[in-house]
Amino acid sequence: MIDTHAHIHFPQFDEDREEVIKECEEKLDAVITVGCDLEDSKRAIEVANSSKKVYASVGIHPHEARNYSERDYERIVELAQSPKVVALGEMGLDFYRNLSPKERQYEVFHMQVEIAKELDLPVIIHTRNAAKEMADFIKKHFDGVRGVIHCFSGERELLESALDAGLFISYAGIVTYPKNRELRETLKYVPSSRLLIETDSPYLAPQPVRGRRNKPTYVAYTAMTVARELGLSFKDVDRITTVNAKRLFNLPLTGEEEKKRLVYQVGDKLYINLTSKCPCSCKFCFRGTEDYVLGYNLHLKREPIPEEYMYRIKNPGVYSEIVFCGYGEAFERYEALKKVAEWVKKFSKDTPIRVDTCGLGYLITENEKILEELKGLIDSFSISVNASNKEEYLRVVRPKFGERSWDSLVKFIKDAKELGFNVRVTAVDYPGFNRNEFEKFARELGVEYRIRPFKRFKKWEE
Ligand code: SF4
Repeated sequence: MIDTHAHIHFPQFDEDREEVIKECEEKLDAVITVGCDLEDSKRAIEVANSSKKVYASVGIHPHEARNYSERDYERIVELAQSPKVVALGEMGLDFYRNLSPKERQYEVFHMQVEIAKELDLPVIIHTRNAAKEMADFIKKHFDGVRGVIHCFSGERELLESALDAGLFISYAGIVTYPKNRELRETLKYVPSSRLLIETDSPYLAPQPVRGRRNKPTYVAYTAMTVARELGLSFKDVDRITTVNAKRLFNLPLTGEEEKKRLVYQVGDKLYINLTSKCPCSCKFCFRGTEDYVLGYNLHLKREPIPEEYMYRIKNPGVYSEIVFCGYGEAFERYEALKKVAEWVKKFSKDTPIRVDTCGLGYLITENEKILEELKGLIDSFSISVNASNKEEYLRVVRPKFGERSWDSLVKFIKDAKELGFNVRVTAVDYPGFNRNEFEKFARELGVEYRIRPFKRFKKWEE
């Protein structure tokens, strides 16, 4: 687990810093101690230099912007080149306390963004009472800049422009506070590949330790809340946020974290990733933007043979469900799908098997007997339809088979239901999606449905 935002070089840790760092070394993968002005950033670097697991960020907080200007460009560049520095910031806009004039905040923020571009470092963004202004600033200046909105406090407009720009979103202890229900709600709109956690210690201790001085290891409380909210396990959130932090701040990934996953576990289910091919090109899809999903690198560059899956599944009986769902469409590898499913059923006939599919299996395989062939092997289908009529489907899902795709998809759903599979149709709640029509569509087909939150991986193009 990584605390992506702490200030352990602050005086609040003077008494017991060594102890705190020792605890971090034992329990965390890394901590980033974040500077707030140039003197403070030097202290951050000193503390980072004292431990293998502590890294520093250097920058000028908007409160301190009044003491700096574009003339300090070179001084920041120099500090930022210290080996343990992994980011620039915290920087940004704070119109709550307005300790620096607004124009100066903009000037110093903009300067640091330019340095980030020059040095190819990620930025750590602080924003308070300035969501709209920050959203506008990001739209205007963040082309090609990597970074994170630190201690995100829930503003939807800011979330959208940050995700459109490819930024990460970091949740601090405030997400654990009972009254912050709306903030917790936003978690479901953040792609798993952009989620981070932090403490902002010594401030903002999470609920169970609220009122105490915060410290990096308390980041685990935030992880627990995030897990509960997203229906994930603590281990899942640990993996997801650790890998994300390493990717953003260029910290070394372990071999396991880097490896392209053929199978991957989430909670007590095992997912099978057969291929990276898909005949669709949904407007909201993560493919082409992200390789990592739920903390796993799923972007396969080859098509492994079925035995490689069997070797990795090992004992299918230990999972509550086996799900064919990965970077691409399982029916693109129909023979492998069948073979692996047969093997699973042979060793564990009671383990349910689901296939998450785009529903174009008939067109992909040019075989309308596939569902009959899968009887007894597959228990359920989750079919991503994402539209309630042909016109909407062609516009949003953009299948390569064109016009005939819709009729084939509907036939697949009806056949699957008639043959006794459990069938669920799904849709993403993208801008302009008609929820009522989709519910009607599912009811008319007599199948269950699920509408998933729209996560912005990139800018939504109309
Ligand atoms: S069907 Fe799924 S994998 Fe294929 S493009 Fe659409 S969302 Fe992406």
